[in-house]
Amino acid sequence: ASAPAAPYLEKLNEAQRAAVEHGVGEGASPGGPLLVIAGAGSGKTNTLAHRVAHLLVKGADPRRVLLLTFSRRAAEDMTRRATRIAAQALGTRADLAQALTWTGTFHGVGARLLREYAETIGLSPAFTINDREDCADLMNVVRHELGLSAKERRFPVKGTCLAIYSRVVNTGAKLPDVLDQAFPWCREWEQDLRALFAAYVAAKQAQNVLDYDDLLLYWARMAAEPSIAADLSQRFDHVLVDEYQDTNRLQSAILLSMKPDGRGLTVVGDDAQSIYSFRGATVRNILDFPAHFAPAAARVTLERNYRSTDAILAASNAVIGLASERFTKYLWTDKTSAQRPRLVSVAGEVEQARYVVEAVLQAREAGMKLKSQAVLFRAAHHSAALELELARRNIPFVKFGGLRFLDSIHVKDVLAVLRWAQNPRDRVAGFRVLQLMPGVGPSTAGRVLDAVAASGTLAASVGAYAPPARAADDWPAFAALMEKVGASLTPWPAEFEQVRRWYEPHLERNHEDALTRHADILQMESLAATFPTRERFLTELTLDPPDATSHESGVPLLDEDYLILSTIHSAKGQEWRNVFVLNGVDGCIPSDLGTGSQEEIEEERRLLYVAMTRAKEDLHIVVPQRFYVHNQNALGDRHVWASRTRFIPEALSTLFDVQAWPPVASVSPPTEAGLAAAAKARIDIAAQLKAMWD
Ligand code: ATP
Ligand code: MG
Repeated sequence: ASAPAAPYLEKLNEAQRAAVEHGVGEGASPGGPLLVIAGAGSGKTNTLAHRVAHLLVKGADPRRVLLLTFSRRAAEDMTRRATRIAAQALGTRADLAQALTWTGTFHGVGARLLREYAETIGLSPAFTINDREDCADLMNVVRHELGLSAKERRFPVKGTCLAIYSRVVNTGAKLPDVLDQAFPWCREWEQDLRALFAAYVAAKQAQNVLDYDDLLLYWARMAAEPSIAADLSQRFDHVLVDEYQDTNRLQSAILLSMKPDGRGLTVVGDDAQSIYSFRGATVRNILDFPAHFAPAAARVTLERNYRSTDAILAASNAVIGLASERFTKYLWTDKTSAQRPRLVSVAGEVEQARYVVEAVLQAREAGMKLKSQAVLFRAAHHSAALELELARRNIPFVKFGGLRFLDSIHVKDVLAVLRWAQNPRDRVAGFRVLQLMPGVGPSTAGRVLDAVAASGTLAASVGAYAPPARAADDWPAFAALMEKVGASLTPWPAEFEQVRRWYEPHLERNHEDALTRHADILQMESLAATFPTRERFLTELTLDPPDATSHESGVPLLDEDYLILSTIHSAKGQEWRNVFVLNGVDGCIPSDLGTGSQEEIEEERRLLYVAMTRAKEDLHIVVPQRFYVHNQNALGDRHVWASRTRFIPEALSTLFDVQAWPPVASVSPPTEAGLAAAAKARIDIAAQLKAMWD
């Protein structure tokens, strides 16, 4: 009879345990390749953590285990879990976590390996890594040197250039194909882009810098280099990868060159959750794994979902069931709940924010920490109205996958113009605004501010100032704007639009992601329109947003409790008791920023599936009836009557608790007295509304 299994194995179901134990003998020498492909919440990540622990328990050398995850946070989390389980089973106090150091993202691990092998591949080990912002700056410098200025020649902005470059590098596709498929409007620039990319690569080499894509590219090249390949493939006994469905061609090439026969390789993922193809990820990696390693590859599927209630699971399954590809994974749960996922219709984005805050606070009243609740959205700027509402109610939050709305440069810029107009003596705002002008630095700005202080008015002082030569072209328009806003010549909120129009060229000049920032400002414009005056708007907006670590007055808060705001992309792999999905409307999910190809639509459907499957107990999909659409086409930006996302068609309604918020009172047949009362009520409401604005 065999000895009883370790307690950590007892907690797993049969399939999970098979995956954990696959090919692991005493000494934990590497076994055959293993694929775990299973639906959301079935314990893939948990299983992977247990497998790492099991390897350690069976004697694997932690320094020779490589664990690759989608984010650094996920890597840290898994390392902690795996080493805790192993240490407990071994009854050892040895710090396994210190030895299990090869954990992280592909990029992070790549950077470490490249530094080690730098000299063999002709890099100086002192290379630095450019983040996206740095890359965009470098791309910009190179572009100017080639005379490909965005302004004069309508050449694509630096962010677009970088996105095209990155896609070519990550997919290995040819430039013309990438342009045709994803950037059709840049087609005419093919030759210039070619020259630009060559110069960009040369500049990086000359400066000894690598960008994120290079980390993978160099790693893949290095792994294919015969003199290094052997060394690299010997280096790790076990390589384990989570979220394999979102890896790209380079990442799979790296894995295959490190583990050519697949021995010691474990990959885990869910094809129904592939959401990064826009960055070059390909679901083929996971789908082709068994064939690539046939007949050696083992495949485990997990069918029991441990995360969500049956009601949430049923709705999520129905949504993904309408996908054009067939995902054949079956999921069941024994967590029952009478509460179906809610499909909540609200008037607009402001009401959406209020609904979420009300529901979050209600759940907290019922004992659910803010931390176990999350609000998810398609694009980082979709949370703008909510962030404002949270700031106003003094509810702390952290945001993943994008900058906080009120902290972003462009939002602060626009607010500074309005603040300076409101209060010409506000030197901080004035400083910020003046330095938006080309050639204006702190000293010039200081002189203008002195003049404003002396005269007391913005209009005259700015207009009369003789600007530095570089600002000469832009100054008249600037002075005209300041005159109008300074003297409040344009009524609110039209004034906001005026400021935005003035600010837009600055955005295009200074930011690679001008389009997203533009969308933010439009968001703010629609919020602005809900306030009666500029002053009220500024007062509400500039209330200090509380940060996650300080507790001020207002709502009593548990220690370090905060609400999670996250893009859906950044929420991958995580779970919360209560989940809100914002903007469940067409134009948002699916987003209308793509080209609208069938593949893109399908990816958006999977995105909604990922969002819904984050919820453990309660799920709210909020559907604003009116939605601000920011369009690059001829229709321009506008409020539109939104319709519920096409991914939840009428036929699925019974799986949801469909409701309106605020709830409408039930209507009984009108009586004469009732009609009179209603007429009176209408007048009363109108009077109340009026009183609100007076
Ligand atoms: P996703 O596809 O979203 O990444 P996943 O398949 O990786 O999900 P996990 O995050 O590993 O799923 O697990 C989901 C939840 O189920 C977690 O809370 C986990 O602790 C729990 N869980 C997993 N396996 C078991 C088990 N055998 N017994 C009890 N709970 C489990
Ligand atoms: Mg997972």
